[in-house]
Amino acid sequence: SLPLFLHFYLYRSRTTTTVPSFLLLGPSGAGKTSLLTLLDRGNPTPTHTSQTPSTITCALPPTHRAASARFRSSHDPTSNAPQRFHLTDTPGHGKLRHFSLDALAQLPTALKGLIFVIDSAALAAPSAGAAAGGDVGGVGAAAAVAGGEGRGGGGGGASTSSSLTEAAEYLHDVLLVLQRRHTSAKTSRGPAALPVLIAANKVDLFTALPASLVKVALEREITRVRETRGKGLLDSGVDMGGEGQSEEEERDWLGGGEGDFRLEMMEECDVFVKVVSGCVLGTEGEKEDVEEWWEWIAENM
Ligand code: GDP
Repeated sequence: SLPLFLHFYLYRSRTTTTVPSFLLLGPSGAGKTSLLTLLDRGNPTPTHTSQTPSTITCALPPTHRAASARFRSSHDPTSNAPQRFHLTDTPGHGKLRHFSLDALAQLPTALKGLIFVIDSAALAAPSAGAAAGGDVGGVGAAAAVAGGEGRGGGGGGASTSSSLTEAAEYLHDVLLVLQRRHTSAKTSRGPAALPVLIAANKVDLFTALPASLVKVALEREITRVRETRGKGLLDSGVDMGGEGQSEEEERDWLGGGEGDFRLEMMEECDVFVKVVSGCVLGTEGEKEDVEEWWEWIAENM
């Protein structure tokens, strides 16, 4: 009594052998290797800087259910089998970044999403946290970011943390690759939508910004990065003639339209970005918390 399309769907999902895969990106020190180890072995062991990409196969915990399996009948023998996916770590160090940009350019069809890990405790300007000290430091740091947004994002470059700049530059470049991929797609349907999880890690630390402020800080900094890159283009003498933006300029301008950059602008290219807090490690007796990241993975499998 199942609708015909469901039969087809069930048949297809049983015969498809490609394992869904996710790619881990993000600046060095954000916690990618720790996350990979946690998902692989159940506990994050001390890490050293990774030099080459490594892939692990993980199984979704039984408490989460892959979206693609939610309609499967309980009589289906595959419905209780562990739902596996691949996770590929990439080195975050500046000089090694071409690995991940290469991986992005190739974009295997089984790729279901990108997980961009950032250290949410290192985003606020160092002076704000250090000056306030103690518990107030966290509040001060958060207020510094919120205040910056209120001023409209202009000026104030000196108070930006270098981690924020590094993360924003990297994220800008990644999103630009996705935007170009969408723009240059030949078929009328374009490439499949690609979700991006910004895993705001280290929320266990008291200087960590909540997800909403991480989003604001990244958008503000990407707006700045975008302008700097745009100026670079003009200085290098790329065609400035004609009206408005040239094709070349448009290609290199992240997010269409006027005004400050917003992550929602990426939705026009079928890139859905979500910022979700969590921590791979727990400090002082608190446990790690990656539940919401599992849920995001399950939803996109
Ligand atoms: P990667 O360079 O992105 O692979 O980052 P690593 O996984 O090597 O982590 C960098 C450092 O951050 C290590 O010292 C980790 O122990 C630490 N770290 C990772 N995740 C967390 C977290 O959730 N909370 C805290 N407090 N530290 C973390």
